[in-house]
Amino acid sequence: MDKLAINGGEPVRDELLTYGKQSIDDDDIQAVVDVLKGDFLTTGPYVKEFENKIAEYVGAKYAVAVSNGTAGLHMACYAAGITEGDEVIVSSLTFAASSNAVLYCGGTPIFADIDPLTYNIDVKDIEKKITDKTKAIIPVDFTGQSVDMDAIKVLAEKHDLVIIEDAAHALGSEYKGEKVGSQADMVEFSFHPVKPITTAEGGIVTTNNEDYYEKMMEFRTHGITRDPDKLKVDHGPWYYEQQTLGYNYRLTDVQSALGTSQLSKLNNFIERRRGIVGMYNKALKDIEEITTPYEAEFSNSGWHIYVIKLNTEKLNVSRKEVFEALYAENIGVNVHYLPVYLHPYYEELGYEKGLCPKAEALYENIITLPLHPNMTNDDVKDVVDAMNKVLDYYRK
Ligand SMILES: *Cc1c(COP(=O)(O)O)cnc(C)c1O
Repeated sequence: MDKLAINGGEPVRDELLTYGKQSIDDDDIQAVVDVLKGDFLTTGPYVKEFENKIAEYVGAKYAVAVSNGTAGLHMACYAAGITEGDEVIVSSLTFAASSNAVLYCGGTPIFADIDPLTYNIDVKDIEKKITDKTKAIIPVDFTGQSVDMDAIKVLAEKHDLVIIEDAAHALGSEYKGEKVGSQADMVEFSFHPVKPITTAEGGIVTTNNEDYYEKMMEFRTHGITRDPDKLKVDHGPWYYEQQTLGYNYRLTDVQSALGTSQLSKLNNFIERRRGIVGMYNKALKDIEEITTPYEAEFSNSGWHIYVIKLNTEKLNVSRKEVFEALYAENIGVNVHYLPVYLHPYYEELGYEKGLCPKAEALYENIITLPLHPNMTNDDVKDVVDAMNKVLDYYRK
């Protein structure tokens, strides 16, 4: 048996393979340079072009680009009218931004447990948690796998709830043969470097609803309008009015040009991600100590991340030791996510352990393996070799 790197042996590879990474080529760089040489750096023609291209790609009527995905969630919660006293049901296994957006608006996040197969929000648990105060649902397309939106819509219609889909992982993913982005009332995407495409920081919200669209457009820029039909008075051509309290959440033209260039490559990125996932599945699915990802019939994921579950009852150690051993082999593993409400900030708000037992149990055993479009087949082989090396050592 090979000596583990963590015990002083040779690592499987010399350089760290990160779990996620952007893919930037010369076209992307040129697109940014062109904007820098032009007349506008922010809110010029490139923002509108990027919004139009994203809306067209996902099949939605409108898109509002913002400075990051979190701002997009905040904007969508604002447009949905979430305010003090309102409850919003949020997936527990997600990044803190999903529920922070509810707090920004004064609302109360109510965490729903996960489906143990898909790791997405459990629709039955949503139903259990609906009260008179529930105003909206924020389901998350975890890892890129679409939630069962039709089932969630049935509940939303019955109880008059707004659905804000956190699709930060899911640009290019499909639900029942359609791109994610047009099924929910509002759908947020993120363009952070590890996400399906990047604008460095950036995000966008798509919608088919004109009212939400107009609210979001104002919210993104201080609550200011220049629309002559909306002005209370009119002092002249220079005149604009702040009518609500908004923010400066604008995306720049520089970033939008990068986003449009990246979008033209998204389908290639996804094809490569799916290819890597195919290799991982083939190499790992028969290893008893691992449960590989499950994909529901209705989903065709773009695979933002690849999350395995360790069957630790078959190992002499816990997830922590396996994680550390893989890292020492220079495999940049990660963990997505600690159930949000277990963060100290949320515990101080009164949330307690035991709220979502399935998400808590899953958290103990998950590891995210490296996955990004520029990984080579040799990189994939390194991950698989390191996994086998580590499990050979720790299996009971
Ligand atoms: C990345 C991400 C966001 C938004 O992140 P930003 O960094 O603000 O763009 C929101 N929700 C989830 C689940 C995410 O992974």
